[in-house]
Parts: sequence; C-alpha cells; structure tokens
Amino acid sequence: MIDKIERERDITFEELKILLTTEDKKSLIYLAERGAKTAEEIYGRKVFIRGLIEFTNYCRNDCYYCGIRRSNNRVQRYRLTKEQILSCCAEGYRLGFYTFVLQGGEDPYFNDNRLCDIIAAIKTKYPDCAVTLSFGERSKESYQAYFDAGADRYLLRHETADKEHYGKLHPAEMSFENRRRCLMDLKDIGFQTGCGFMVGSPYQSVETIYKDLQFIREIQPEMVGIGPFIPQKDTPFCNERAGAMDMTVRLLSIIRLIHPPVLLPATTALGTIDSYGRERGILAGANVIMPNLSPLDTRDKYSLYDNKAFSGYEAAECLEQIQERIRKIGYEIVKERGDFRGL
Ligand code: SAM
Repeated sequence: MIDKIERERDITFEELKILLTTEDKKSLIYLAERGAKTAEEIYGRKVFIRGLIEFTNYCRNDCYYCGIRRSNNRVQRYRLTKEQILSCCAEGYRLGFYTFVLQGGEDPYFNDNRLCDIIAAIKTKYPDCAVTLSFGERSKESYQAYFDAGADRYLLRHETADKEHYGKLHPAEMSFENRRRCLMDLKDIGFQTGCGFMVGSPYQSVETIYKDLQFIREIQPEMVGIGPFIPQKDTPFCNERAGAMDMTVRLLSIIRLIHPPVLLPATTALGTIDSYGRERGILAGANVIMPNLSPLDTRDKYSLYDNKAFSGYEAAECLEQIQERIRKIGYEIVKERGDFRGL
C-alpha cells in the first residue's frame, strides 16, 4: 500500500485511515523510511534552516486555539522596530541563515508601506537571502506589493480544508473562503507558497485530514507546515487534548509521498511536545527547521501554546548544537537559501 501511494502520489480515504490507525510497527517504520528516502532523492540528506523572526504578537483575529488571539488580555504585546528586525537579520546572517521568516499576528499597525519598507531594506542588505512572510490574510494588492518589494515566499496555513471544521476553530467573522482565496492569490502572484494545518486540533477527523491532503494535491504548494496542536491555557481550547507526535510524523511521511518536492518543516510545535520530535520528523521526510531568531526578551511573549520551546534546540544562536544533533542522525544542515525544487 505504501509503495502504491508513493507510485501514484495519491492516497485513498481507506488507505489514510489504515495508516493513521495502524499499530503495525513494521509498516510505520517503512512509511517513515519511504518518506525520508523520497526527500533524499530530491534534496539529498540535507536540512534547510530558516531564521524565524516573530515581529509582532498583536493580532486582530480571535482563533480559538491561539495564545496571541485578540481576546487574550494576559499577553504582553510587543512589536519589533525596523531596526530590531534588521539586527535579527544581521545576527542570522552572521550565523549562516539565508532565509528570514517574518512571522506575526494580523497587526494593522504593519501596513503595506511599513512592511514594504522592511522587506526592501532586508533584500537590499542581504540580496543573497530569501524573505518569507507569514502574517495572515491580506488583499491581493497587498500581497503583490510585498512581492514587488522583494519577498520570495509566503506561509499561510489553511488550518483545515473542511468548512465545518474551520467554523469550529474560528469565530464566525473569519472566513474559510477568504483564507483559500489568499492562498490562490499568493500562488498566482508567484510566491513560493506554504499551506498547512495543526495535527490533532479539536474536532479534526480522518475525514478532515483526507480533505487537507486533497487540498495539498490540488494547490501543489511549495511548502507545507504541519505541527501538533498544543493547548494554551488562556484560550477557549485550554482543556483540549494536544495532538500527538506519532500522528504528526505519520502525516509528514504521507505528505512527502503524495507531494515529493515539498519543503516540509519539522516544526517548533513538534520539537515542543517531544525533545526528539525534530529528529523523528526529519527521519520521516521533513527537511526544514526554523530556529528562533527573535530578540531574546520577546520570545516568551509569542506564546501560541503552552511551554513553547524557544531556547536550545529551537534557538538560532545554538546552531552549532542543532547541527551536532542533525549530524548524529546522518543529515547535514546546509547554509543556503534552500529554494523549492520542482520535479
Ligand atoms: N497570523 C499568521 C497566520 O494566521 O497565518 C501567522 C501566525 S499564526 C500564530 C501561525 C500558526 O500557528 C497558525 O497558522 C497555527 O496553525 C499555529 N498555531 C496557533 N496556535 C497554535 C496552537 N495552540 N498549537 C499549535 N499551533 C498553533
């Protein structure tokens, strides 16, 4: 069955159900092996690094799962200045990062002028680096302006490809259709585009995950970000169960098999629920990690979920230590842009 999925780059609902529920160790080992081999055939045994700059935790949205949702008044809000963002890039460049990811809540303070100015400044100073954006839903005109200012990639998880499920994770004012529209616009403009979802989010089912996989097949994103849902204590989902590492790892392999060239991070959330999570992810087909480059004194404020890791293995300044751990599993961190390689 795993060979068939690999060959056809497709999975049926029944096959998905089996792969997500089986306890057969041999099959699970084989699934991870095929995931890793598929990544290796395209990218080698390489892990690309992205320096994550969490530049604002203000957010106008109120997603039920997210710790920086607007109704959470326990968050100490912050915004980085352009100078602070540029000094994160300087530190990242010194360490060997060739991709900077500007991630934040949906913060209207960062209007198009401010954002374009920041993007252009980074690209002028570091023309050999890629800039990835990840700050939510905007108009097509705005996305086009960021692209024209020099941004290369955009990450916007679709969160779930099932409309009803989307409605259970978000307040009514947020629109399933608009999120999909954004992804289509980003692709259309020419961004290397990333979608994705949380694994084990409340109300998720094999049916909704199947739709997520079909969505990935349909839009052929250059990147897919998946990580376990982890509850945050000041959100409506504070008492929900966290997603599992094991399920996330299975899905990383499945996504690799149905969409081989995808850039696939072993996310911070995966590293947070299990100290060996990132290695497990890479050994199952992930090939990107995104260490934190944000200023040290803001990292604990970007608290999307409880106990979010931001030091040691998750910290850009510990790149040596990260490199050592990756080497131990037979992979190498590469200091390059790490662009998408189509087949
Ligand atoms: N605001 C931008 C957006 O909506 O795309 C980017 C920032 S948002 C905080 C980044 C991602 O964090 C979301 O797409 C979501 O999947 C993930 N996230 C939020 N809360 C989470 C939680 N409790 N557990 C795991 N992941 C979470």
